[in-house]
Amino acid sequence: MAWHASVLTLFPEMFPGPLGFSLAGKALREGRWRLEATDIRAFATDRHRSVDDAPFGGGAGMVMRPDVVDAAVGAALAGGDPARPLIYLTPRGVLLDQAMVRDLAAGPGCILLCGRYEGVDQRVIEARGMREVSIGDYVLSGGEPAALVLLDACVRLLPGVMGLAASAEEESHAAGLLEYPHYTRPAEWQGRRVPEVLLSGHHAEVARWRRAEAERITRERRPDLWARYEAARRQRPDASP
Ligand code: SAM
Repeated sequence: MAWHASVLTLFPEMFPGPLGFSLAGKALREGRWRLEATDIRAFATDRHRSVDDAPFGGGAGMVMRPDVVDAAVGAALAGGDPARPLIYLTPRGVLLDQAMVRDLAAGPGCILLCGRYEGVDQRVIEARGMREVSIGDYVLSGGEPAALVLLDACVRLLPGVMGLAASAEEESHAAGLLEYPHYTRPAEWQGRRVPEVLLSGHHAEVARWRRAEAERITRERRPDLWARYEAARRQRPDASP
């Protein structure tokens, strides 16, 4: 069975959007994964087809109604493997990282709920046992770009999607480090030379240089990742004191 993504949204026309291109788009056309975007509004029951209402307790904005969202979730669960994790995309969620992406990509797929307005009534999030996931510490106007980000990150890890299997093992976040810099022809451009070691043909030296650069960049840019990497390194049995 192909990896199966169901997106619940007020803007189904935003999908597949950028996921219709390049690796993800080709994989979609080849049936390596499935995507359907469902309009939450189709589950509205009143004659105005309303999906939101004013917040209890007052304040700005509107809140997405639990009954309408619940009906949309029920339909998505019935339309695929019920073991797929149910994720509400929200800036209040746990941060998406490569470990979570790997986990999701290894499963049957996912059901993604995209919020709009001030978000979704908390009761349906709890009643359906949704995971709350954020793609970063900033606020988007809707969950759709977050769903596209999450899906893109997962789909490229599905079997047969990336050309070179090795690229997923070497890239940023794979070993807890950011990736080393890349260079291609010409060897000199605007007076800047490619680091000599990369032209040497000496594979062990190239690997050493790349590892050192990955460590330097991680240390400089992401002290949080660096601290975790150092701690893991200290745990290894071959670690020097
Ligand atoms: N009132 C919410 C808050 O302060 O946490 C923000 C609501 S936001 C304007 C509307 C919707 O965008 C959210 O319900 C969520 O689905 C989505 N969204 C916004 N930022 C996000 C982020 N960083 N990660 C994931 N989803 C996000």
